[in-house]
Amino acid sequence: MTQVQVILDKALDGRRITPEEGLQLLTEADLLALGQVAQALRFRKHPEPVVTFVIDANPNYTNVCVTDCLFCAFYRKPGVPDAYTLSVEEVLQKIEWAVARGATTVLLQGGHNPDLPLDYYLTLIQETRRRFPHVTPHFFTASEVRFMAEVSGLSVREVLERLKEAGQTTLPGGGAEILSDRVRRRISPKKGPAADWLEVHRTAHELGMRSTATMMYGHVEAPEDIMAHLEAIRSLQDETGGFTAFVPWSFKPDHTYLRKWVPHRSPPQQYLRIIALSRIYLDNFDHIQASWFSEGKKVGQVALHFGADDFGGVLLEEHVHEATGHVNRSSVEEVVDLIREAGFIPAQRTTLYEIIRLMEGHHGGGA
Ligand code: SF4
Repeated sequence: MTQVQVILDKALDGRRITPEEGLQLLTEADLLALGQVAQALRFRKHPEPVVTFVIDANPNYTNVCVTDCLFCAFYRKPGVPDAYTLSVEEVLQKIEWAVARGATTVLLQGGHNPDLPLDYYLTLIQETRRRFPHVTPHFFTASEVRFMAEVSGLSVREVLERLKEAGQTTLPGGGAEILSDRVRRRISPKKGPAADWLEVHRTAHELGMRSTATMMYGHVEAPEDIMAHLEAIRSLQDETGGFTAFVPWSFKPDHTYLRKWVPHRSPPQQYLRIIALSRIYLDNFDHIQASWFSEGKKVGQVALHFGADDFGGVLLEEHVHEATGHVNRSSVEEVVDLIREAGFIPAQRTTLYEIIRLMEGHHGGGA
């Protein structure tokens, strides 16, 4: 028996694999063998052939940013002609637009804009809660929270306490990129070390908030960096249990500075490998999210057979990927059809992965 097979058998036995074993799977395992084990573990955790999705929108409140990440095509430096910052009322209009189309989650994020006071963010949460009580304000990534702390002079914990008081209960996982300082120094030197991202999520979990963990791969990282990332979030999950899901996606080079060194997108087979490995490695995560949006609809469907149990959001509005020329649109009907076509029963969920409605049958929304 090969060493890789021994590791896969160990995972199938329900035993936790080590970072070294994970590295071996990432670099040496046969993709289909990896996928089969991942799918077996997925069905052990979620025995029903149900795939969840959320109706959401990802508006942005500002594209002004002073952090200059090399992989980012979205931000503008302060004062340039196409820099923008929306008023609270303008953001609420966007949320109203999404709510009218069925959104239950709004993932709001923006650049690091030094002109915005903490009150701006707090008012956004309070007003969203007041005007749209059925929407979960899934607002502000870890790096935005850190930036709020910097601008306001408060600690990360104090900022999170204020956000929570204002009505925020969950945090999106963006800004993690790769949780390896070697990589972060190259692609986002002003964003701080991996420990900063982890500290925001640890503190949020300690305050009773939930969050997702993300990973953007396919640029300057080595396989060891991916394993460092998976190990960091698995350890934090052991500590707090606060992560709802893991959401990986690939770097999109167009219109970014990093394109000079990384001109091509990571191929679909690497995405499937990462989805499968994450299902195997992250044994303490309930949900692994496949993204029709980031990797394409067909690859998203295939990922549902490689360990993923969630199909992400419908994304009624999105601009961060759009800035790289990556435009992918869908609708609730299409997402439902894609899940069915892949062989699963679609189910609309909340931000916290609770099922709102199961869509059995073949036409239209079910009970
Ligand atoms: S990724 Fe975020 S922090 Fe980095 S430059 Fe873009 S907007 Fe700014």
